[in-house]
Formats: sequence, C-alpha cells, structure tokens
Amino acid sequence: MTTIYSSATEMAQALSKKDISSVELTKLHLDRIEAVDGKVHAFLHVDSQGAIAQATAVDAKRAAGEKLSPLAGVPLALKDILAQKGVPTTAGSKILQDWRPPYDSTVVAKLKAAGVVILGKTNMDEFAMGSSTENSAYGTTQNPWDLTRTPGGSSGGSAAAVAAFQAPLAIGTDTGGSIRQPAALTGIVGVKPTYGGVSRYGVVAYSSSLDQVGPFARTVLDTALLHEAIAGHDERDSTSINAPVPQVVAAAKKLDVKGMKIGVIKELGGTGFQAGVSQRFNEALELLVAGGAQIVEVSCPNFEYALAAYYLIAPSEASSNLARFDSMRYGLRVGDDGSKGAEEVMSITREAGFGKEVKRRIILGTYALSSGYYDAYYGSAQKVRTLVKQDFEKAFAQVDVLVSPVTPTTAFKIGEKSNDPVAMYLSDIATIPVNMAGIGGMSLPVGLAPEDGLPVGMQIMAPVMQDDRFYRVGGALEAALLSKWGKPLLSNIPELGGM
Ligand code: GLN
Repeated sequence: MTTIYSSATEMAQALSKKDISSVELTKLHLDRIEAVDGKVHAFLHVDSQGAIAQATAVDAKRAAGEKLSPLAGVPLALKDILAQKGVPTTAGSKILQDWRPPYDSTVVAKLKAAGVVILGKTNMDEFAMGSSTENSAYGTTQNPWDLTRTPGGSSGGSAAAVAAFQAPLAIGTDTGGSIRQPAALTGIVGVKPTYGGVSRYGVVAYSSSLDQVGPFARTVLDTALLHEAIAGHDERDSTSINAPVPQVVAAAKKLDVKGMKIGVIKELGGTGFQAGVSQRFNEALELLVAGGAQIVEVSCPNFEYALAAYYLIAPSEASSNLARFDSMRYGLRVGDDGSKGAEEVMSITREAGFGKEVKRRIILGTYALSSGYYDAYYGSAQKVRTLVKQDFEKAFAQVDVLVSPVTPTTAFKIGEKSNDPVAMYLSDIATIPVNMAGIGGMSLPVGLAPEDGLPVGMQIMAPVMQDDRFYRVGGALEAALLSKWGKPLLSNIPELGGM
C-alpha cells in the first residue's frame, strides 16, 4: 500500500498502476503537513489549492491515457528561493515579504511540465546565508530527529520536510553546502549537481558563481529521478552547460562499485571531526572495499584556505546581487511618507528588510570589493579558488570519485552557534571546496553517530559533468547499508506527536 513512508519511486509506480490517484497522494501529504508542521516548521507557505489543482490535472491526463513523465503526480516541497508564478517567494527575507513572482523559474517550469505536484515553499536562511535556518526572518525549522536541534541550512526546510515525510521529494540550492549539509543532518540524500547542470533562471541570486539548484529525497534513485527532471541546458542562464545531462538514473541502478578507485581526502577528516562521524564514515568505506572498490588516500593541501576564500567571494557577489532590493522595483518599501527622497527610502527599507547576517555579508563584500582592497582580498580569494580547483584535478587524475564526511558534527542545538558566525561557517568546511571548483557532490546517510543517535552523511564527489559517478557509488553503498541494517535509516526517526 502506498503511504507517506513510501519512496517517490514506489509512489510513481502506484500512480501509474492507478492504485492511488495523485489527488489522494497529495491529500495524504497535506494532512501530514497539517499534523506535524506546527512542530517542524519546514514550510513558509503551503499551497493546498494549487497542489490539488496540479494533482487533478495529472490525474485527468492519466485517465485520458496520455504519456506521462516518471514522476508525474508525485508531490514535492520547493525551497522558497525559487520563483513560482503567483505563489509567495520570500527567500526567507522580510524584504521580499508578500512578493508573488509574475513568472516561473526554469526549475519550476520543468517540474510543472513533468507533472510534479508542488506542495508549497520551504523555510531557509535569509538569502541562503547560513547553515541552520536560524537566519530565516520567519523563524527557525526544527530537525525532525530532535526538535531542539537545527536541520542544517540553508535549505533546512526542504530537508526537514523530506525527513519528516511531509514530501518525498524537495528542491534546494547549494552555494557552499546548503543541500549536502542539511541532507546529512537529517539523514536523507541530497545532491549538488555540477555548476551549470541545472538552470539558475528564476532563482534568487546569492553568489552567482557558486549557486546551484539540486534535489533532495529519501533514496538515491528518487534523487536521481528528480535530478534528471530538473537538469539540462537553458538559454536563459548564461552559465548553463550545453551538453547532455549525465545519466544519473541509470547510474543509481547499477549497484556495483567493482574496480572503482575511491579517494579519501586527508584534509577533510580526522582532528576536529566528531568521533561518531569518523566512525560511521570509516565503516562505510569498509563496505565499499567489500564491494570491490579500492580506497586510496589523497591530499588536497589548498583546501585549508577554501573556507576563508569562500567568505570573500560569496559576500562580494552577494553585495552586488542584493543591490537590486532597493524598495523601488518590487518587495518591501518602508518610510515612503512623501517627505523623503528615494535614497532615504531605500536606506530605511534596507535597514528594516535585511537581517543581521545579510547585512554583515553586504558590508564584508562591499569592503572586499572596494578599490585599494580588491587585490588583497577578492583577488587573493580568486587565486585560492584556482588552487582548490587544481587540487581536485590532481586528485581526480588518480581516482574516480572522492569522499569525505559531509559535516564535522551531527545536528547541533538551536542557538548553539547562532551568536558565533565563524563557528556556524565552519560547519561547511568539507562542502565548500566542491562549490569553489564547480563540481558536483552527493550527501548520503551512512548511519547514526553512537554518541547521540543522530544521522551522519558521507560526501561523494566527482569531476565536472560526471555526476553519474557519485550516483553509482551512492546507489551501491545505499544497497550495502540497507542489507547491513535490514531497514532504512529513517525508520529510526522518532514519531512526531504520534510520530
Ligand atoms: N553556509 C554557507 C553560507 O552561509 C553556505 C550556504 C549555501 O550553500 N547557500 O554561505
């Protein structure tokens, strides 16, 4: 029987056999959201009417015998950073409160064309700046594994929705780890595709040279199906790659790593990583060896500087991107009582509309780009970026994929790092190099840390446009873990109030 606990693949099969209708399946998820989102707060906006309308349309097409996409009729949660026509899109910021985009982002257009049912918009750190959702202007999201902890961020709402069975699929964005880190902290699968693999058209820009949209799901195959549904060239995004989409669904089904060379990055592990994180990571490596893979240690000496360089590049681009929120064109306007000039209204609006972390980044970025400091800060950071890229190139000359833990620790407590920006920044230490190099990476749940019973993720990385490789390794490892445990990791999650 199909339930909210089924995988997206199982839901899709049941839909195609007409064992359940998309309207029924959508209602099951809307009921679940109603029941648990008071505790989780994964959603900023639930579009019940829109979702039922989309589901009804898919059911009608199916009844008429039309050929449908693999995920047609399956529900999804959408990060509130992607424009969806007529539906509130805030990017977690007060400055975009009540903004309803007049158009669909390319990803949303593709989801609609594939018949995927969009349940609503999920919570996130303001403008995707953060690692816990605590920077959202609309309150934090709770981790369904332990409501006193964060689900990670910035795509924490999307990850929590999937882990809490409010949606089998979700969309996030990842600039420095915002898909992989929350996936790891909530025990689900998350993928940051190769930069340019998925269109950024209609995605509120944070750091354009790093931002990438990607899928969340509870299994590797579900993640691959969603990846293929949203990927592909888009003329409206000048950085979109004009090449065939990697065959990630086929790769996820291979379930075999025989003869593959897997590199463990020396610099992304050991000291500073929680004992239980290292333990589960090492056990997963043993399973890969048992499956016929060869493990080698590789060194990426410049990764040490990646985090510092990221916190110059990302704020620099953000300071420019966020200039558009000027109270004149769209979004919030404060202080326009007729007595003030435009400059003053802009300033009052930006003061009222942006949160603390966003202001910190605008100031940092403006400073780093200012004449006199540009070469010392922004210029040096770009050089580091090149060195990080070269480290990856050298490593991939020796191995097929690279692996590391996704995060140094399991999910941290709400409030634990919110007053210490650097401590918060450090939770992305292992994910940031991937964005700097423009390659893709997956976060795969590999167990619960013995000391706290919370999920641990393994990061699997592949060269540019070879995303199929991490799906192959991820799929094989997921199968090996499943036969070891006898049940999925998420079956250990506490029931939220009845769950
Ligand atoms: N935590 C990192 C930041 O605050 C990454 C966020 C992201 O990937 N969007 O910039």
